[in-house]
Amino acid sequence: MLPDNILFSSDPTNDLLAILQKKNYSQVVVLTDENCRRHCYPLLERSLPPHRVIEVKSGEEQKNLDTCSFIWQAMTEQALDRHAVLIVLGGGVLGDMGGFCAATYKRGIDFILVPTTLLAQVDASIGGKLGVDFQHLKNHIGVFQVPVMTLLYSGFLKTLPAGELRSGYAEVIKHTLISDRAMWDVILQKPFADQDWDTLVRHSVAFKARVTTEDPTEKGLRKILNAGHTIGHAVESYLLGGNRRILHGEAVALGLVAEGYIAQVRGMLPEADFQQLYRYILSVYGKVALTEEDIESATALTLQDKKNKGNRILCVLQEGIGNARWDCEISPEAVKEALRFYR
Ligand code: NAD
Ligand code: ZN
Repeated sequence: MLPDNILFSSDPTNDLLAILQKKNYSQVVVLTDENCRRHCYPLLERSLPPHRVIEVKSGEEQKNLDTCSFIWQAMTEQALDRHAVLIVLGGGVLGDMGGFCAATYKRGIDFILVPTTLLAQVDASIGGKLGVDFQHLKNHIGVFQVPVMTLLYSGFLKTLPAGELRSGYAEVIKHTLISDRAMWDVILQKPFADQDWDTLVRHSVAFKARVTTEDPTEKGLRKILNAGHTIGHAVESYLLGGNRRILHGEAVALGLVAEGYIAQVRGMLPEADFQQLYRYILSVYGKVALTEEDIESATALTLQDKKNKGNRILCVLQEGIGNARWDCEISPEAVKEALRFYR
């Protein structure tokens, strides 16, 4: 059962209008960036009641308190009262930051998320984590708060650059690998470009919503969502530090293979399943070129993962396909061996 603040829409224009009419807001403001204004806003604009638009520049570099100040300033200049609503139209950067601005403006006004990237639809807009980066620390400042509504429309994905689609796809793969073998078999039938996004988004959202509803503050079950991220995030951060940025999804894909490799060595994931996982991910993402020095340094970073306890590296390991276990301790040697396999 989906929470009642998540709506799959085939007609976002009318559905958004219906939500707004029901709530009778005093003012309506849309927050977006230049790409979403061009590609997504025209779809909603016609049916919205009189409203203002706040436009910020796109990109993770904008996800900081300076941009929040700009947004709070615009909200203040427009004299938004506590009965106003902020509609956040954009990817995960805007969702996290816009939601945070709404949740803190005058101690909190309503906000509606209209996620326009695959990553934002299946991941960032579900689960109530909001916030911004601070002094190079990702998502360092933030709050938990859920939107009045998350409106999901897969049609927005048509204008998304292929790289962004591929990046979000890694989270879809992750959700499937840890929850549903039958769906994994469906995914394997089609190359990335031919996937049925409507079905995949619904499936992924239902899973993430269930997990985050059951364990909103990450005491147990929610940790399963870190699959692929312990090793993937370490490699992503290490490469970013050396100005070799890779897409988050590429890093997660690499992490899923590396952690899958460790699960296979431990006998938790049958070899045939691992090989299938590996070959599929390779077909979508290719390999990330890593030197021995990269592997050493990225492994050192896994020790700093904020989900660890003490000096132990804790990660999620597949238990077959469709199931996974969190808080599995792995050694730095195992991480290195897994990364050597996938370079
Ligand atoms: P993004 O928001 O930067 O969007 C990617 C790019 O696509 C941007 O340039 C954007 O302008 C453009 N774009 C968006 N929608 C478009 C469309 N329909 N057509 C054409 N262009 C479009 O990146 P993202 O991958 O969506 O989100 C990444 C962020 O999400 C990160 O900051 C990450 O921390 C956050 N995140 C949050 C959570 C959470 O639980 N809150 C989970 C995962 C990720
Ligand atoms: Zn992720």
